[in-house]
Amino acid sequence: MVGSISVLGATGSVGRQTLAVAERLRIPVKAISGNSNLALLEEQARRFRPEFVCVSDENGAKALRTALADTGVRVGGGMHALSDCAAAYADCVVTAVSGSAGLTPTLAAIDAGRRIALANKETLVCAGELVMRRAAERGAEILPVDSEHSAVFQCLEAQGGKRTLKRILLTGSGGPFRGKTPEETRNVAPELAVAHPNWSMGAKISVDSATLMNKGLEFIEAMHLFGVTPDEIRVIIHPESVIHSMVAYSDGCVMAQLGVPDMALPIQYALSYPDRVDSAAAPELDLAALGKLTFFEPELKNAPCLALAMDCARRGGTAAAVMSAANEEAVALFLAGRLCFGAISEIVSAAVAETAAAETISLELLRDADAAARRFVRENCRRY
Ligand code: NAD
Ligand code: MG
Repeated sequence: MVGSISVLGATGSVGRQTLAVAERLRIPVKAISGNSNLALLEEQARRFRPEFVCVSDENGAKALRTALADTGVRVGGGMHALSDCAAAYADCVVTAVSGSAGLTPTLAAIDAGRRIALANKETLVCAGELVMRRAAERGAEILPVDSEHSAVFQCLEAQGGKRTLKRILLTGSGGPFRGKTPEETRNVAPELAVAHPNWSMGAKISVDSATLMNKGLEFIEAMHLFGVTPDEIRVIIHPESVIHSMVAYSDGCVMAQLGVPDMALPIQYALSYPDRVDSAAAPELDLAALGKLTFFEPELKNAPCLALAMDCARRGGTAAAVMSAANEEAVALFLAGRLCFGAISEIVSAAVAETAAAETISLELLRDADAAARRFVRENCRRY
């Protein structure tokens, strides 16, 4: 069990659930960060009494500093403070910010040798090679919080490693529009796209689940986390979200991890590892009440974002970073009513075609690729 945590993105869906787990397990919360929801951040600071609170923008930090003046909690603003929040206060940082904003603080935490409970998948999609190499060099543990990756991690742990791994079977619910064609969903409203059948999540990942980009991001996340090739990962649609993922071994055995769909389970395991605490994170799974579990092959022709992500995984270079950054921009435009649902995959695909490069990766190159992809989407969105 970790001795203390800091939580990046404490006001978000994973962040709030992490604080609830910490409270139940009595894990001290040493630092928290948030972006714009200052009222909730203040409430969390008063409840958990961290040493440090980080707000993304300096004006927000100023306002919160005044609001928390009676508490002795220190408040900082900006990217430097976010890296501090990740690296300086606790044994373990839970990276629950959304998007590529997670990369810099994750690198800071790695350099400080912290355990990283990684929810922020975009960090690995954008810079997986660099992040994993640096973590190995600095001896920083990266443990998955994403439910599928936690499942794979637990299957591998049970088996003592991946020596005889044949394939990772990555499950996904198929999202709210499973079975529908791109033509049928082209103009769906944001309210419908964010309504996931099994999971309650932040807006961006909910839209990613509807486009199946989330499964694509997870495909790339799995490659980096577990050091496997694209051919060693297979996506399987499993609408009930009860099997969180599986590992097939070369002798024909398949191991699966099951549970009710509740993020408290993988969050708790990332904090308690290598132990399993004697405190239920979620209600017990009742298989007899469920009756049956179902599985389908993904229809790639109806899931252009998943197909694109699998292609980017094979291309290497800056392709995945460009895809992820373009997707962030496109999803924000969709949520703001400025891009239709069907155009998300089209504009992200165009951004990859126009701006991705095959060069060997450096952090600087990745940051430039991220900026170019975002610019491309902003400049071209009116055409869609
Ligand atoms: P969310 O939108 O609910 O919360 C995001 C948090 O990050 C908020 O606290 C917000 O203030 C902060 N934030 C957003 N942009 C920021 C920026 N530019 N700089 C600093 N802080 C910023 O998102 P979520 O659903 O909690 O997801 C967080 C991450 O976890 C994502 O990467 C997502 O893919 C991953 N994840 C989420 C779930 C889930 O069930 N929600 C499951 C698996 C993985
Ligand atoms: Mg997931």
